Amino acid sequence: MPKILITDAIHEDAVEILKNVGDVEIATGLTPEELKEKIKDADAIVIRSGTKLTKEIIDVAKKLKVIARAGVGVDNVDLQAATEKGIIVVNSPDASSVSVAELTIGFMLSAARNIPQATASLKRGEWDRKSFKGVELYSKTLGIIGLGRIGQQVAKRAKAFGMNIVGYDPYIPVEVAKNMGIKLMDVNELCKVSDFITLHVPLTPKTKHIIGKEQISLMKKNAIIVNCARGGLIDENALYEALKDKKIRSAALDVFEQEPPKNNPLLTLNNVIGTPHQGASTVEAQKSAGTIVAEQVVKILNGEPAENVVNLPMLPMEKMSKLKPYMALSEKIGNMIIQLLDKSIEKVELTYMGELAKEDTEMVKRSFLMGILSPILLAGVNLINAPTIAKNRNIKIVEGTISESEYGNAIKIVAKGKTEEISIVGSLVDGNPVLREINGYKVDIKPEGIICVIKHIDRPGMVGKVGLLLGDYGVNIAGMQVGRKEPGGESIMVLNVDHMIPDEVIEKLKKLENIKDAKIIDL
Ligand code: NAD
Repeated sequence: MPKILITDAIHEDAVEILKNVGDVEIATGLTPEELKEKIKDADAIVIRSGTKLTKEIIDVAKKLKVIARAGVGVDNVDLQAATEKGIIVVNSPDASSVSVAELTIGFMLSAARNIPQATASLKRGEWDRKSFKGVELYSKTLGIIGLGRIGQQVAKRAKAFGMNIVGYDPYIPVEVAKNMGIKLMDVNELCKVSDFITLHVPLTPKTKHIIGKEQISLMKKNAIIVNCARGGLIDENALYEALKDKKIRSAALDVFEQEPPKNNPLLTLNNVIGTPHQGASTVEAQKSAGTIVAEQVVKILNGEPAENVVNLPMLPMEKMSKLKPYMALSEKIGNMIIQLLDKSIEKVELTYMGELAKEDTEMVKRSFLMGILSPILLAGVNLINAPTIAKNRNIKIVEGTISESEYGNAIKIVAKGKTEEISIVGSLVDGNPVLREINGYKVDIKPEGIICVIKHIDRPGMVGKVGLLLGDYGVNIAGMQVGRKEPGGESIMVLNVDHMIPDEVIEKLKKLENIKDAKIIDL
């Protein structure tokens, strides 16, 4: 019987599934040394976030075939070390989507009918039927910000209440949203037209305070706002002011900028209801986080394919090590393209050049897809599921080869949105990724750190103007390059900077004479 080690608490049903196929040992709260001892002869290990599987620990495992992480993130597993040893890593990213969606709907109903406030009043011995007059969900407009796993589950359920649904998710093509019966619009428009607004995006530098003072000022007087995603998505000060002055109707919050909240004035308001980050806290979500991975462990121990595989250990090592630098290059190009385009991609054309044209480039393509998807999705994009996710988002992929290239072995990637396209050529120099062209302008930059890409008209003094403005805001320029096609024509400036440039500085850059656009990219 295979030995299955469980080192974090998982649901008893998951344990039962595993007991059918192996000798199960449950040992929680282990020190790294104790874990090393136990993992030595284990065939499978099941963890949550409490167990850290470093390279040192993975290297000790002699028989390990599968690492199962019950839940979403796999930051506590050294994926590379597992992959190199041919150990499959699986997780259960979808386990809590329904629970969070149901809490969202619960919040919408509770806020619409003042259920928590009316309950408290009733328990105080009052019989106040006037103060808690509510509104219906029926025929109201629901604005969903972020149409990923949870946002889509909310949309399905809201439709059953007869709501009209609008959405903001720049990375979802219009047709995909249309198939779900959702009209896409920008975030400000969504705030104007919605009676209920709910957030389902990951917290990133782009989504921080996606609902700020400006957005709140556009909302209807009766608007109800729900946040079951992450605290930093809403500017809590602006929300407090609006709710205090009854500029909007109410808010329902499962998440806060600081958790647990300390002296948060929002919690003093009668038109705020909330829960302590309980979106995923259901019997079913916790059960399925465990049972989904347990079922996958069974499949892997039986030599069958599993669904939620996070890494790709089945590739021959020799092939993997040859392609690895190109995979890193195409992933970086993908990262850069999605940040530059900042909209949904309809089509990508990948051209493999030089000797690379003779290789099997499937993994290079998959890495590129990971690059364009991972900055916009919460978690769970990997080399296995990236093509399926891209297909679900209607991204058309075309591949080609050219045997000759001035850059040797190189990749050219053109990504097309509805109105704009970005093309990037990259190659390797001493085994490291280097960008050689951006939109046809020749450059020579390492795709790493923070990069500012500025489109401008080639005029004397442009470099000085940009340098001066950034200097005024204390932004240090570590490197700069200018690419132009002809003197006096449209050109680009690419700057490596030491720190993130604040949005207001980017806006000021855009307003300088002869500057056409400026974008900041975090690689
Ligand atoms: P997901 O990755 O499946 O979907 C995220 C969606 O956001 C994607 O469709 C993506 O295109 C979109 N997006 C990314 N950047 C955007 C931007 N700048 N503007 C608009 N849309 C953007 O994620 P998910 O599993 O649906 O999770 C959604 C949120 O729910 C996350 O913040 C997650 O942390 C949170 N969550 C909360 C709980 C809880 O206990 N309350 C539990 C699970 C998840």
